[in-house]
Amino acid sequence: MGTQKKFDLLVAGGTLVIPGTGVVKADVGISNGRVRAIGDDLGAAEETVDAAGKLVLPGVFDPHVHIGIERSFEEEAETETRAALIGGVTTIGIFLRSASKSYLDDLPGFRSAMDERSYVDSIFHPQIFTREQIAEIPLYAENYGIRSFKFYMSGLPGVVDSITDDLLLEGFRTVAALGPDAVTCVHCENGALVDQARASLKQRRSGGTLADWAEAHPPEAEALAIQTAAFLARLAGAHLYVVHLSSLDGMAAVKAARQAGTRLTVETTTPYLGLTSDDSNGFLIKMVPPIRAKAHGDALWFGVADATIDTVGTDNTSRSLSTKRPEAGLHGSKPGLPALGTHLPVLLHYGRLRGIPLEVLVDCATRAPATVYGIYPQKGTIAIGSDADLVLVDPDLERVVNATDLNGMSDFSPFQGKTLRGWPVMTIKGGTIAVRDGRLVAPSAGRYLPRPARGNAACGRLTPDSALTP
Ligand SMILES: [Zn+2]
Repeated sequence: MGTQKKFDLLVAGGTLVIPGTGVVKADVGISNGRVRAIGDDLGAAEETVDAAGKLVLPGVFDPHVHIGIERSFEEEAETETRAALIGGVTTIGIFLRSASKSYLDDLPGFRSAMDERSYVDSIFHPQIFTREQIAEIPLYAENYGIRSFKFYMSGLPGVVDSITDDLLLEGFRTVAALGPDAVTCVHCENGALVDQARASLKQRRSGGTLADWAEAHPPEAEALAIQTAAFLARLAGAHLYVVHLSSLDGMAAVKAARQAGTRLTVETTTPYLGLTSDDSNGFLIKMVPPIRAKAHGDALWFGVADATIDTVGTDNTSRSLSTKRPEAGLHGSKPGLPALGTHLPVLLHYGRLRGIPLEVLVDCATRAPATVYGIYPQKGTIAIGSDADLVLVDPDLERVVNATDLNGMSDFSPFQGKTLRGWPVMTIKGGTIAVRDGRLVAPSAGRYLPRPARGNAACGRLTPDSALTP
């Protein structure tokens, strides 16, 4: 036995990006899975990682992930979180869908899948469709530490039902009664406008292009639904979290809703920030809401820059080419994209091209969502006492996106063929080096994170000024 070293692991010489603190050159000392010291000359460690020339970020928290859409929940709990971890994502928020009316039947299985097979930590957001499920919300909170719930104002025909406004209000009131920290996540599209647009498009066009698909889910349907959800959230005193904002019109609606006093957090996704409807991958990137024309993506980037948008997730819905069927065209191909493995490189690549400060990009993907969902500062930062989930990024590394390298179940990526600059080269999960140069080097060690009630509400983004402290 040698002499006792001060730390288990030392990450030395890297450039830390810490939301709210800034960009600082410092070492990070880690023991027993947590960050124990940040600074210079921290002392000896059992193992030292040379992070010179690398960015050291908090492990990414992707708050918007679907698991078990194509294969079983258990299988994707392993394959998709493996892709996540390699891509620098160390915690995910999963939108659950129960096969039965009550989540009480399925929550034990969901939880054990994430405890036993996942490479990343997770929180749950059950998707609420029925009055029975609304009545059980307090039980989901009490028994499983769930503080966030999702509602679909417009479902997908044959896949997900829409919720009516009366049930939405009842759901908001029930979630709000849990306490100020509880969150209502809403897929904001007006169902009637979407149904009408889809029917009309079906009559007019069969072959079509990806740009035509954007007409099936028009931006005004998103804007109108945000107005409705915001009004109902104010009535109920609920915290409204708009998932996957996709349009210019939606941006205007969230600004107005904030001015009217809605407690509001706004999320967009890296596919919306990185792709446009004229993309050469065509129906391979079919999505709901759709990938839209460039003006919408530009508006979303302005929203990231000026903190209208708080968080960035993926809406990861892994599929393989055999079920995606891009060749089936406008009406036949399936929506849904695998996006966990490219989440961080896409954010860094396109964000830096647009001149968005690193701290802002990192805030949207780490601290801001962790704060909203009540897992900060355990997650979402690099601070004494927080979990030692870190990702080391080579800011200059350029790679062409290739599905095989991403290591999920999908045989395609919506970004395939694109060259992105800025890739993770190491992921440290709970103080253990888990990924090195794109390869897993540790067994899965993810845990489901029950969330206690906090009694206080948390807002999303740092203001642009406070995020820019050097
Ligand atoms: Zn989603």
